[in-house]
Amino acid sequence: MKMLLDGQWVDRDKKIDVTDPFDNSLIDTVPAATKEDVETALAAAVKGFEITRRMTVYERAQILFKTAAIISDNLEEFATTIAQEGSKTITEARKEASRCVNTITASAEEAKRILGETIPFDSFPGGEKRRGYYYRFPIGVILAITPFNDPLNLVAHKLGPAIAAGNSVILKPATVTPLSAVKLVEAMVQAGLPPQAIQVITGYGHEIGDALVSDERVRMISFTGGVEAGKHIAKLAGIKKIGMELGSNSPVIVWKDADVDLAAESCVSGAFWAAGQNCIGVQRLLVHKDIYDEFKKKFVARTKQYKIGDKLKDDTNMGPMITEAEAIRVEKWVNEAKAKGALVLTGGKRKGALYEPTVLEKVPKEMKIHCEEVFGPTVNLYEIDDLDEAIKEANSLPYGLLAAIFTSNVDVAFKASYELDCGGVMINDSTDYRLDSMPFGGVKYSGLGREGLKFSLQEMTEPKVVCFYLPQI
Ligand code: NAP
Repeated sequence: MKMLLDGQWVDRDKKIDVTDPFDNSLIDTVPAATKEDVETALAAAVKGFEITRRMTVYERAQILFKTAAIISDNLEEFATTIAQEGSKTITEARKEASRCVNTITASAEEAKRILGETIPFDSFPGGEKRRGYYYRFPIGVILAITPFNDPLNLVAHKLGPAIAAGNSVILKPATVTPLSAVKLVEAMVQAGLPPQAIQVITGYGHEIGDALVSDERVRMISFTGGVEAGKHIAKLAGIKKIGMELGSNSPVIVWKDADVDLAAESCVSGAFWAAGQNCIGVQRLLVHKDIYDEFKKKFVARTKQYKIGDKLKDDTNMGPMITEAEAIRVEKWVNEAKAKGALVLTGGKRKGALYEPTVLEKVPKEMKIHCEEVFGPTVNLYEIDDLDEAIKEANSLPYGLLAAIFTSNVDVAFKASYELDCGGVMINDSTDYRLDSMPFGGVKYSGLGREGLKFSLQEMTEPKVVCFYLPQI
């Protein structure tokens, strides 16, 4: 596939192979962008903004509605690309492609709701005979940097609202999974987006990232990825807006009055979705001692039923990790915990990039698999018997994206929802529940700002005040 620079689909002699992590087969290549390509992208994005800022809301919304229809009409093709280049099974990929249709549709709808207000200038002395209002205007060039784990829908979460607001965009997708992103941009252009409005630059973040991030022509960086890259970008960014959707280590409390079957089923899916490479994947399960054994038995039994392997088969439950190196890292973390006394209840074995869905208990608190983001198919069980202690434990790490609690007691649910320190609390769902239009983001190292179309649109626009002094009235 090619990249889109200054209105042209271009290739380069130096290419990057895009391979299927299941069998390392070559799917396609993308150009390896150079520093000169970065300059082309930046200059073109500035010109592109002169076009997008003048487009009407109706035009922007129509392009997005048409984009959603194109994806919807070609859902299986989009799903296959997601499944081939990434870790997701075809079933998981179909869900992502459908969610992308929702994300782009909601962006189109929200484009029509970018509202302002009148301002009561006469509410203090000195404001007499003044009338005015504010409206929201697009901020300019948005640099969207996206991760590998949702290679289509997380790109849509940036392009949809950026275009809805009237901005121009430079997209740098994850190097291991650029194809879904390029296909989304192709759909947007086919739907009528002026090609100058969007630049897609494919290349390694560590090679082209700094030049993009530090450039003053970029007015906002919308980044989704890991904490390390996030910190690096934040240091270099200078004076521009930053949106950061980062990692987490999500806790779920299973209280003594929970529906154990529901909790086990929901948390197995939440732990192993996309082979655990999911920013809201369940990592720590804090289970009340009265139901601990029952929950453990059901959770482990359900995990053992997981069929892992070929992502393109309908009956595969879980695919490989994104690279063998990532699977080796997870294996190391598990073995390290095992050596310090953790028990592996099921899983724990690796074959190439495939790492078995793994359940641990008695994990010492200083282990990486307890305190860092594992981003792999492993989950830890802990026994708890006091709600305050469980909440304290859930809050004990420097992350806070989503948290969850299973309970049938509304008081317990309310207490947890107020005291869990994070961007959202799911009651009787695992942390792996997200509606694309809800405000989504984290506290602490999990991020800055919120996505979720209406909320992204606030971040990607600024209010401008207009005040009329009318001495004659
Ligand atoms: P990553 O390694 O941080 O990469 C994310 C993106 O940043 C990629 O496009 C990467 O490019 C780029 N990048 C890396 N270094 C850069 C630099 N110095 N300058 C500019 N760009 C740079 O993350 P990942 O492994 O793809 O994704 C996993 C992480 O994303 C996890 O921590 C996960 O929790 C987080 N995540 C968060 C959310 C959320 O909504 N909160 C959602 C999904 C994932 P290359 O690919 O070229 O390195």
